[in-house]
Amino acid sequence: MAGKVDLDGNAIKPITICMIGAGGFIGSHLCEKLMHETSHKVLAVDVYSDKIKHLLEPATLDWADRIQFHRINIKNDSRLEGLIKMADLTINLAAICTPADYNTRPLDTIYSNFIDALPVVKYCSENGKRLIHFSTCEVYGKTIGAFLPKDSPLRKDPAYYVLKEDTSPCIFGSIEKQRWSYACAKQLIERLIYAEGAENGLEFTIVRPFNWIGPRMDFIPGIDGPSEGVPRVLACFSNNLLRREPLKLVDGGESQRTFIYIKDAIEAVLLMIENPARANGHIFNVGNPNNEVTVRQLAEMMTQVYSKVSGESSIETPTIDVSSKEFYGEGYDDSDKRIPDMTIINKQLGWNPKTSLWDLLESTLTYQHRTYAEAIKQAMSKTTAN
Ligand code: NAD
Repeated sequence: MAGKVDLDGNAIKPITICMIGAGGFIGSHLCEKLMHETSHKVLAVDVYSDKIKHLLEPATLDWADRIQFHRINIKNDSRLEGLIKMADLTINLAAICTPADYNTRPLDTIYSNFIDALPVVKYCSENGKRLIHFSTCEVYGKTIGAFLPKDSPLRKDPAYYVLKEDTSPCIFGSIEKQRWSYACAKQLIERLIYAEGAENGLEFTIVRPFNWIGPRMDFIPGIDGPSEGVPRVLACFSNNLLRREPLKLVDGGESQRTFIYIKDAIEAVLLMIENPARANGHIFNVGNPNNEVTVRQLAEMMTQVYSKVSGESSIETPTIDVSSKEFYGEGYDDSDKRIPDMTIINKQLGWNPKTSLWDLLESTLTYQHRTYAEAIKQAMSKTTAN
């Protein structure tokens, strides 16, 4: 990749990146991008490596000397500091980040998103290393507009719902709504990183992903994850489509979300990695404001797209309603609407998302069908035979 320059025309020097959580959904795509399109080295840290196996083996791969896997649980492993010291930049992706866990495993959620991230921040700060930390759009919580009367014309005014990094408040529900344990832990680690920057000069960038989706997201229950597991919405709906079951709409599927294709989002992360002078000290929303739908509309679109890519007609009753209490248990709550403001990322990195919702669902569901349809058929025929 000789001759590659950053946004200011300076040559990009190869660096070593300690990527924690590299074996997850986002980590696997970021590792792929770094191996295919750059000369940077990656020290990949995770407890799992299945999603990056294709980048680690065989040893004859072009980039074999640029990626090393370290099977480390960052909760209790003294090797972490050494890896952070060896790297120029640390990217922390490690987290429990599936909504089904927030109210059912609130302690694990808080420990994972706050306590376990503390040493990472401390080692970066003490050793003068740059940190890109993955937070979430959930730190915004609910919109101001959600508290207006249903028929208020102000609900249509973007000032009441567009989420801005530097001005929007973080609005969570009461403590007994344990759903907010994740958002609150992420918010506190953001505040800690920001304070390390202000008081001790830590060079940091905070990323707030807005529903990144694509291949390798989560797992399909009973195939490559626990049968009773509840993944995020893309994998939940994919599982229903693959099994020809109705898609379950929680509380009518009225929540609104913006979805962005993982490959568009990874472009933004690469710009942050390679343009430290423009990215340091910033918090970035990374989402696609043009891809907004209700969860019900998402279910309908996924049903249409899956029918196209699989060649199978959709079932007679494609969706059913379930209550959040039934689906997620006690203590669930939700954000009403999440539209990212793009001003800061646009100004600093000149980045914009490209892929439409239909296109990103088409490529993702093609992957889901190719990867899982056969395994599901076999698993279902075994169950019927038994
Ligand atoms: P993911 O669950 O696929 O990946 C997280 C990875 O971290 C997993 O591979 C997991 O094994 C690893 N990990 C967790 N705890 C660890 C530990 N103690 N030691 C070592 N490894 C550990 O999730 P993702 O979608 O790739 O998300 C990555 C980050 O982005 C998370 O911090 C998440 O909160 C944030 N995020 C993602 C989205 C999204 O749209 N995908 C949205 C908001 C926030």
